[in-house]
Amino acid sequence: MTTPPRKPAVFVCNRCQTGAYPALICGVSERGQCDPARRHPMAKLFFRYAAMNAGKSTALLQVAHNYEERGHRVRIFTARLDDRYGRGFVTSRLGPQREVEQFDGDTDFLALMRETPGVACILVDEAQFLSKQQVQQLHEMAHLRNLPAICYGLRTDFQGELFPGSATLLALADEMDEMKTICDCGRKATMNMRVDAGNRKVTEGAQVEIGGNARYRSVCGRCFRQG
Ligand SMILES: [Zn+2]
Repeated sequence: MTTPPRKPAVFVCNRCQTGAYPALICGVSERGQCDPARRHPMAKLFFRYAAMNAGKSTALLQVAHNYEERGHRVRIFTARLDDRYGRGFVTSRLGPQREVEQFDGDTDFLALMRETPGVACILVDEAQFLSKQQVQQLHEMAHLRNLPAICYGLRTDFQGELFPGSATLLALADEMDEMKTICDCGRKATMNMRVDAGNRKVTEGAQVEIGGNARYRSVCGRCFRQG
C-alpha cells in the first residue's frame, strides 16, 4: 500500500489575502510564491493619453472611486512640478479634487509599493513626467508583482515631441487608449499648442512650463501646423 503524496500547502500572498482578487491567487508574492496553478490574469500597464483638457484627471478620479467602492485600495500619484491647483492634488475641471501622493525624479515606485502590500492598483496622473526608469518600474510591477498601473498623460509637448514618460509608456504599455477631445475647428484635438498672451503660437522654449489652461490650446494637427 502506498501513501498518496502529500499535497503541498497553498501559499497565499499578502495581496491575495487582503482580497484584492478574492476568488483567485496570483502566483506572485513578496513572501513567496502563491499557488502557481491558480494565477489570475496578469496585471497590465495602461497608458491613457490625450491632448490637454480631455478629462484625464476626471477619468482617473472615477477609476479610483470604482476601486474604492468595491473595498479595494489604490495609490494615486501626480507629478510634483504641477502646482496648478496647489501641490499634490488631482483636480477634475468638472469640480472634484482629491489630495494625492506626488512623484518626482527620485521616486522609486518599486520601493514604495514594497511598503504597502494590499494595494489593488496604482494610478498616475501627469504620467508624461515619469522618467524612463519609473515607467520601467511600473511595467515590472505589473508583470512580476501583478499590480496594475494606469497612467494618464499627454503624448506630446508643445513642439510635437514625445515626453520621456510618454515615449516609454508608448513602448511598454500593454494597453493604450486615446481619450478624445475637440479642437475649436471641430476636428479631434491631438496636439498641445503653447500660446502667448496674444494667443499666438509659441514654438520655442522649455518643454515643461506649467501655466495652466491659459497658456495652452488643445488643437488638431491642421490647426497646430497653421498656428
Ligand atoms: Zn483644428
